[in-house]
Amino acid sequence: MNIVLLGAPGAGKGTQAARLVSEEGLCHISTGDILRAAVKNETELGKKAKEYMDAGELVPDELIIDLMRERIQQPDTEKGVILDGFPRTTTQAVALDGMLNELGRPLDVAILIDVDPEVIVKRLSSRRMCRACGAIGTEADGASCKACGGEMYQRDDDNEKTVRNRLEVYEKSTSPLIDYYRGCELLVSIDGDRDPDEVYADVKAAL
Ligand code: AMP
Repeated sequence: MNIVLLGAPGAGKGTQAARLVSEEGLCHISTGDILRAAVKNETELGKKAKEYMDAGELVPDELIIDLMRERIQQPDTEKGVILDGFPRTTTQAVALDGMLNELGRPLDVAILIDVDPEVIVKRLSSRRMCRACGAIGTEADGASCKACGGEMYQRDDDNEKTVRNRLEVYEKSTSPLIDYYRGCELLVSIDGDRDPDEVYADVKAAL
């Protein structure tokens, strides 16, 4: 099963993907996680991407498409993938169709996790992430990760100004993908402004 998770930053894509990975055994590919690791390790890709990420802008399509072309050919993707944060532009979506067709593994569903932008601003300002395992939590969870005890931190791009820019970028560049996947008859839209367990029940029903 090959799944695209669509939705604004902070809609809950990472949280839902983590559950799908543990319960369905699918391979999770988050372009945001790959880019953050590249920035941390100061690779060529990381150096090119950092400026865009800090400003809440999209990293150029060529870089992201090359990254995904390489990642999706790895053996751990054969059983199926959950794509989280990719595609984010129509150019990326068309490139993805080409990659999956070449591999003979077409997309099964595009799940939109729909959340009101003002809810997102509040959510992201209190979002925290584990430096060690990448688990997602909130400010209220405290300084240590519930999953592994690692240090919880606030992403550089989770401040209100950058969040608002990321939401504008989402509206302009990524939200057209909703119509793109509706046109392909692959879109399922889910109300994401609920308890994560309720959202997950709908995600499972969509598969
Ligand atoms: P995320 O963790 O998905 O919110 O991504 C964090 C940042 O990484 C985004 O704000 C972008 O700067 C960059 N990024 C992640 N995925 C993509 C993508 N598919 N296309 C362009 N930029 C991306």
